Amino acid sequence: ISQAASHIGIIGMGVMGKSLALNFAEKGVPVSVYNRFVEGKEENIASQFAEENTEFPLLKGFDDLAGFLSSLQSPKKILLMIPAGAAIDQQIAQLESSLQAGDILIDGGNSFYEDSNRRVKDLEEKGLHFVAMGVSGGEEGARRGPSLMPGGSREAFDILAPYLQKIAAKDTHANPCVDYIGPAGSGHFIKMVHNSIEYAEMQALAEIYQLMKYGLKLTYPEISKVLKNWANEGLRSYLLEITADILLVRDGREYLLDMVLDKAGQKGTGSWSLTTALNFQVPYSPLSEAVTARMLSSNKSNRVELAEYYGHRFGAFAEDKVILIEKLKNAYALTRFINHEVGFDLMKTVSEKEGWNLNLSEIARIWTNGCIIRSTMMEQLVGIFKDNTSIFTTKSLKSKIKEMKLDLTYIVGLGLQHSHALPVMSAAANYFLSRITTDSPANLIQAQRDYFGAHTYQRKDDPSGAFFHSDWKASV
Ligand code: NAP
Repeated sequence: ISQAASHIGIIGMGVMGKSLALNFAEKGVPVSVYNRFVEGKEENIASQFAEENTEFPLLKGFDDLAGFLSSLQSPKKILLMIPAGAAIDQQIAQLESSLQAGDILIDGGNSFYEDSNRRVKDLEEKGLHFVAMGVSGGEEGARRGPSLMPGGSREAFDILAPYLQKIAAKDTHANPCVDYIGPAGSGHFIKMVHNSIEYAEMQALAEIYQLMKYGLKLTYPEISKVLKNWANEGLRSYLLEITADILLVRDGREYLLDMVLDKAGQKGTGSWSLTTALNFQVPYSPLSEAVTARMLSSNKSNRVELAEYYGHRFGAFAEDKVILIEKLKNAYALTRFINHEVGFDLMKTVSEKEGWNLNLSEIARIWTNGCIIRSTMMEQLVGIFKDNTSIFTTKSLKSKIKEMKLDLTYIVGLGLQHSHALPVMSAAANYFLSRITTDSPANLIQAQRDYFGAHTYQRKDDPSGAFFHSDWKASV
């Protein structure tokens, strides 16, 4: 091995690959980069990138795969930062024959965790290590310090740890926001859950913005100020802070936000979480509603038509503004606790069923910095999940949750009566109330099932758990 061999190789010079490469080089890690060539678009992306960044002498760009591979120290550690799906399988197939036992492939993209389960197993059988790693924080996070969620080969993680620790964000105790998550695709699994919490957190803020704009008739600077106050009152989060900033940005005489078309995009990780939650029978309604809300928003022309047809208008609230803002704050805070409970509950259930032994407190810690859902609440969750398996049974939160519940249900009721759709806040309220209800109306569901389908039911007065069938028709 030559002295100059690179410790890490990165394939894929998109925004994430480039930012991570600079992050490694800046932290003293010699890094080689490569990007594929596509017919008709033959630019030397990787070598050009290295040339544009001569202030990072540890960065080397290669336009040929063979040169890139031979520049790497053994065992080779290759990070793929390319699109999820077929691209990953194609890239692995192309690399396999050039790799030796013990070499390490890392998929840092947003791959579906079931694909990662398969890849970890397939490559392990071939003597290669595969690390399926969630990366959060976007371009800025990748450049300055992302939150990293590596899972799969433990042996490979131990080799990679010193490098990953160098580039990761640091938590409040200056510990890196990275740790071994668990076997198989567990790292990509928790990244997927992270993204669905992100969807719900964004939608909750969108609902708060709508209520303040149309219900309370606040101006954008006024809303921004309220959000900044909330940040100082224990609700600080990255998403809250960027929302407060967004509300102040002008485009000439208008606010830029008013020029942004109200059709939300999505790339799939939100929907994958719903499918997974359904597969594992984990209630996911608040986070599911955030995905649905994006879908509903995207059909703008139909919305405009129906809005006219039904004469829809947001109603304004007559109540005292100061009192309502306080209620909104509590409603928002409880919605956030519920969103996190739902996401962590999915992780807990899947961890138990897959035997992954996920450490929820450590996952919360990794998410306290570098990632999009970092917040003071996430810092609280580190402690909460050390001693509890649910936010709802955390004693120190009980009286606050009871108080906030009154405001959440009040705000949801008020909003709905004034024609404000509140998909995440109302789903959160319904989820919470359903979780704390002793006598649910599911007895009627069971009776209906037994009536039309002889599906049988269990009886409250029979502790043996035996199943019964009644002839409901004959008894009427
Ligand atoms: P990107 O900007 O679209 O870049 C993708 C890179 O992959 C490009 O350099 C592209 O090369 C290359 N590529 C595309 N198809 C390929 C194939 N079949 N084989 C080999 N290389 C291929 O993507 P990105 O935003 O950097 O994201 C990379 C991964 O990280 C994705 O899985 C993404 O979901 C995930 N991620 C992104 C973010 C974010 O904020 N952007 C955050 C976390 C995770 P060409 O130029 O030749 O097409």
